[in-house]
Amino acid sequence: MSSMKRNTRQRVILGLLIAQAATLLVLFLVSGRVAATAESDHQDALLATKTAEAIDRMRAHLQPAESVVTLMSNALAEGELSESTVTRTFIASMEDTDHLDGVFVGRPDGSFLYVSRADEGYRIKTISKAGGLSTTELTTVDDDGTPEGTELDPTDTYDPRTRPWYQQAAALDGPVGWTDPYVFFTSQQLGLTATAPIIHDGELVGVVGADIELGSLSTFLTSLDIGVDGSAVIVNQDGVVIAHPDSSLLQRQTDDGYRTVTISEFDDERARAAVGSFVIEGAAEGPFVAAFTNERIGASRASFRTVAVGDGEWTVAVFGPEDSLVGGLASARATERTLLAVAGGIAFLLVAFVASRATRPLDDLDRHAWSDMLTGIPNRRSILLSAEREVARSDGPGALAIIDVDNFKQINDTYGHQVGDEVLAEIVSRAETSLPTGSAVGRIGGEEFLVVLPGQDTDTALQACEDMRTLVRSAPIEASVGKIDATISVGLASTPGPTGRDHLMAIADRALLDAKTSGRDRVVVSNEPN
Ligand code: GH3
Ligand code: MG
Ligand code: MG
Repeated sequence: MSSMKRNTRQRVILGLLIAQAATLLVLFLVSGRVAATAESDHQDALLATKTAEAIDRMRAHLQPAESVVTLMSNALAEGELSESTVTRTFIASMEDTDHLDGVFVGRPDGSFLYVSRADEGYRIKTISKAGGLSTTELTTVDDDGTPEGTELDPTDTYDPRTRPWYQQAAALDGPVGWTDPYVFFTSQQLGLTATAPIIHDGELVGVVGADIELGSLSTFLTSLDIGVDGSAVIVNQDGVVIAHPDSSLLQRQTDDGYRTVTISEFDDERARAAVGSFVIEGAAEGPFVAAFTNERIGASRASFRTVAVGDGEWTVAVFGPEDSLVGGLASARATERTLLAVAGGIAFLLVAFVASRATRPLDDLDRHAWSDMLTGIPNRRSILLSAEREVARSDGPGALAIIDVDNFKQINDTYGHQVGDEVLAEIVSRAETSLPTGSAVGRIGGEEFLVVLPGQDTDTALQACEDMRTLVRSAPIEASVGKIDATISVGLASTPGPTGRDHLMAIADRALLDAKTSGRDRVVVSNEPN
């Protein structure tokens, strides 16, 4: 019995829920996209800010050295300063700036004045040239410049004119420059020198230099806060790594001292990957942002800016894993997703609840359209459709039966229409009880019913009809006015092969008429209309 095949209500509810789910899905996807865009914007903004900060700190770090060499080269170009004035100025600048490792001036004749740090106070080296004679004097002074001891060093071979800072200043375009990293003569450490030529009347009359060791140049990077696992690196125009939070990576031991390290052989995989992801476009300065993936830190981003330092160009790169760059934004996003999921779930349940209640009348509509009100079984329209469908579907034997209640007018006339209804309902109930599964019974007229017996051959269909008839007559019907005996007549049409519904119904009608005329309370089976 499945004649109520179209449940309008279920389809309406399903449609509403699908629409609701689709809306939620779109909301989820859109919010995800918006959040992802916000995250990458945030990452890029953070990286750009940190890059600017790194550059500011780098400038601040380099500036004292640039200042002292520019100042002194100008002062010395104007005229002779006494050696003690120069020494005091050099000491003062080193007092002010911890990371200045030495300040000095060299002359075209090979004379030299050099102030460097000693255990306590400063160490002053002077090389003077007189009459083809070179004298090297080493003096230790305290913080105030008061000499504490002097000695001569006849073995000294130092010649400022051969040193990188002197040669670079001599060839310099601007007022101040920075050397490439090189090994300092005294400390044997790698470092860079800020260098400024002293020009008098268009002639080079000396060079002023200030040293910063590579190790101390990097200190400003260690305090740069770039999220967990974020870092920064600075390379010069030749790809030599100038600064990195781990300054021990900036130099490599060789047989005779230290050498610099280029980015392609640099011992921080992340820095290598970050700079490797960067392609400078034309002469633009940036900042550029690049995404890259590194095995150890995963999906990462880097920001780059190229800045002029002296007459060179340094590239500052700041990088970090995406997760750590978004910081609080990631957890905010997770919270948002959870809220959205909960709210979505609630909205979904609400729609399901409201839809289920609001569409209830649709069930009644369906019932009215497809069921008989008195008996609850399929109505004429419904059972005729079922019959048509079943007969059309089966390519084997087909059977239809028409039931008519015997002398029903008499029952109505005796007990009234109301009791007649009770009798009808009970007959239908008994008929349904005795029907084999897969069969259906519907009301096609006042006290007439159609039985669909799909796939049954004549014998089994006949047996089913006999069972029905027997059950109806087996006991009187308990009506409100007492016991009423009732019987039915059945016309059964059965064909061994496929045929049409209307054909079968015509045969059944004839058989029913035979049953009535031959005495009622019986089943007549027919294969052909007589
Ligand atoms: P037969 O054995 O020849 O079928 O005799 P019958 O009295 O059953 O035949 P007839 O067709 O003359 O009468 C059928 C009656 O069924 C007529 C009508 O009043 C009654 N009837 C039709 N529909 C309903 C109904 O819904 N309720 C009730 N109580 N009676 C109905
Ligand atoms: Mg009738
Ligand atoms: Mg009748």
